Amino acid sequence: MPEPIIRIDSIVKRYGALTVLDGLSMEVMPGEKLALIGPSGSGKTTILRILMTLETISDGFIQVDGEQLYHMKKDGRLVPADERHLHKMREKIGMVFQHFNLFPHKCVLDNVTLAPMLTKGIARAQAEERAMELLDMVGMADKAKSMPAQLSGGQKQRVAIARALALSPKIMLFDEVTSALDPELVEEVLNVMRKLAAETDMTMLLVTHEMGFAHDFADRVLFFDRGKIVEEGRPEDIFRHPKQERTQTFLRKIL
Ligand code: ADP
Repeated sequence: MPEPIIRIDSIVKRYGALTVLDGLSMEVMPGEKLALIGPSGSGKTTILRILMTLETISDGFIQVDGEQLYHMKKDGRLVPADERHLHKMREKIGMVFQHFNLFPHKCVLDNVTLAPMLTKGIARAQAEERAMELLDMVGMADKAKSMPAQLSGGQKQRVAIARALALSPKIMLFDEVTSALDPELVEEVLNVMRKLAAETDMTMLLVTHEMGFAHDFADRVLFFDRGKIVEEGRPEDIFRHPKQERTQTFLRKIL
């Protein structure tokens, strides 16, 4: 039996008096495709940001690919692993955000090659060759020399996916990647993600309000409410026969 690639153990996240995650535990197996669903404000994005070390935690433990992100000191203080270590961890995880976050003054190709060249010291020619393969995969090879401002939202998001893949992460995090898009552009981005899920063995965590997509994409669906996982299971069970009343109410409203 393989080890989980992500182990989240009793984590608590507070912003001042607000407890956003309340003793949350979950495990993700290598290659698993997970959909995180639930009402706004239930803590789904926070989980992804914590995994990406964009946020710290107030309590608990997280292990990614066998390494701890935090250590408990003798005095009970929780401290992040040292910066070099965290840097290594971050390279294992790629994240795609709701608002693309492309470098506006760099062309599409440079957006994809920049991180591998800077963080991994990969030579330009090699980085560009890989970037063109990735851009081809997301259907954006013909726009390699375009600037972000010349692209539609769906095109920008496809470039953002290629950029995250350029560091060859083991884990990909997708945070509501279609919710800022015009409806007619959603499908082209979802198609890229479908292809990725089918053709790679990467572990993927997806926060989404697209329930149809979550159903098709995920091996397992986690329903979040108020900082806790209320229910989890196979998509066909969660969407057709939710057991918990809170899940039923949420799905009734959204579907
Ligand atoms: P979801 O992704 O499920 O919509 P989030 O993880 O984005 O939920 O947010 C969970 C809660 O944390 C919300 O109540 C949100 O307002 C709060 N929150 C998120 N980021 C911050 C922050 N930087 N400061 C204070 N509160 C925050």
